[in-house]
Order: sequence, then structure tokens, then C-alpha cells
Amino acid sequence: MFEIEFIGTGDAAGVPVWGCDCPACRRASADPARRRESACVAVHTETGVTLIDAGVGDLARRFAFGQIRRILLTHFHMDHVQGLFPLRWCERTPRIPVHRPDDPIGADDLYKHPGVLDFRPPLAPFVEHDLGDLHITPLPLRHSRPTQGYVLRHQRHRLAYLTDTAGLPETTLRHLQRHPVAALVLDCHVPPQPRPPRNHNDLTTALALWRASGAPRLWLTHVGHHLDDWLRQPGNALPEGVRVAADGLRLAGDGQVRTTHRPSRHADATRSPPEARLVT
Ligand SMILES: [Zn+2]
Ligand SMILES: [Zn+2]
Ligand SMILES: [Zn+2]
Repeated sequence: MFEIEFIGTGDAAGVPVWGCDCPACRRASADPARRRESACVAVHTETGVTLIDAGVGDLARRFAFGQIRRILLTHFHMDHVQGLFPLRWCERTPRIPVHRPDDPIGADDLYKHPGVLDFRPPLAPFVEHDLGDLHITPLPLRHSRPTQGYVLRHQRHRLAYLTDTAGLPETTLRHLQRHPVAALVLDCHVPPQPRPPRNHNDLTTALALWRASGAPRLWLTHVGHHLDDWLRQPGNALPEGVRVAADGLRLAGDGQVRTTHRPSRHADATRSPPEARLVT
């Protein structure tokens, strides 16, 4: 078993943005399936759940203690770690290993009072590390804090989760070219911009990186409301092989849609919600 469950696919603001009246936010207000929480992914394998980032605040309700085998952090911006703050006061053992980039500051007092969280020394980048039945390779990203993405391998399946980043370091791109993945899950915060943003990818940059990587599929994540609004406008199509991630969507190891638990009439992403028409 190897499934990637998107729990949060939004940016720090989420969708809808508080107080915003744009069409994408109005649509998300009316339809829970269109909402986006901040960054969080659950990787399901035979031995349990590996979380990547913890941007949502209800992890304790989603997972029983013992289900979460480990946590991989991309970086310590609050929209990626805010869900750790309530979890840490758990009084059970064993402690949960937390793998992280080499960031001596962390977030607030997480290092000082880690509770059940066992922050491990940073793992060497570009090297595959065995974590039971899941194998991970940290890849450096380009962001305003020390940040790393992860190649996830389970048996013969390989996927890359790369957010937050503006472009990619040349070494990371070369690694992806030499060690192909079935799909990239990549930071794409905004629609095409006149100039690439400094901390995240716009769609133009994300598509260029995907093509350069050679990966068959691209999933866009860390999506802001401006990108959602752009995608709903007629004529703004995505190339074949490119899809926008959604909260509740699950991917199989080959990077294709496995299932979704989205709570609405758009629940089945393999049918034809508006995005599916755009991306075919
Ligand atoms: Zn909006
Ligand atoms: Zn960030
Ligand atoms: Zn972020």
C-alpha cells in the first residue's frame, strides 16, 4: 500500500481567504469541496502514516495516537507546522520522530518544549534514507527559510513532494532528472506573473520545472485563491498531465487519482468537476 492523501493544499491564507469576495472564495464558501487548508499530506503505507508538514489544526481528530509513525517537515513557516502545537502535549510513548531541514531556529518554542515530538538531526540531502517500508530522499528547495522537499519511494514507486520553493536549485533538478519520479507535487501559488515570485512558483515556473524534470505527471499544490480564480476562467487550461491538487484527494503510487473523500457533489474527482475539464 502506498497512497498520498492531500489533507491541505492551500497557502498560508487557505481558500476561502478571510473577508475575500473573489469568485473563487465565494465558491469555496458555498462548497466545502472547494476549500483549501494549509499544507499537510498523509503518506499511507502498510506500517502506518507518515505526515509531511502539519498545516492543519485537527490532526488529533484525524489520526489516533500510534497511527502517525513519523513526521517530515519541509520547513518551519507557521502554515506548515501549526498543527504540531496541540499534538506535542500528548503524554503517550513512544515519541514521534520528526525529520526536518537544518534550521536552528525552528518555530516558536517547539525545540524547547517538543513534548511527544522527537526532532531528529537533519538527514543528508540527495541520499535515500530507509524509514521502514518508506524510503525518503531530502532535496533542497529555494525559499526564505531552510527548506527541503522529499522524494518518497515505496517499492518501485517514486513521487516527489516539493513545496515551498521559488524555482528549484540546479542540484535538485539534476537529481530529479537522474532519478525519475512518476509525479511531481510542486509548489504553484499563483497564476502566470509578469515576473516570477520570490518565494513561490507561479504557474509558468511550475510548468517549466515539470517539463525539465521529465516527470510524467504534475500536481500543483500550495494553491492560493488567485490561482483558483484564474483556473475557473474559460480558456485558462492546463496541459495534459497537469492537475491541481485538492483537499481530500488520494494518489496511488503511480501519481494517478486513487480516491477522494471530498464532502460534496464534486466528491469523485475522476468524474468531471470543472478542473477535470480544464486539465484533460
Ligand atoms: Zn479570494
Ligand atoms: Zn514557506
Ligand atoms: Zn507555505
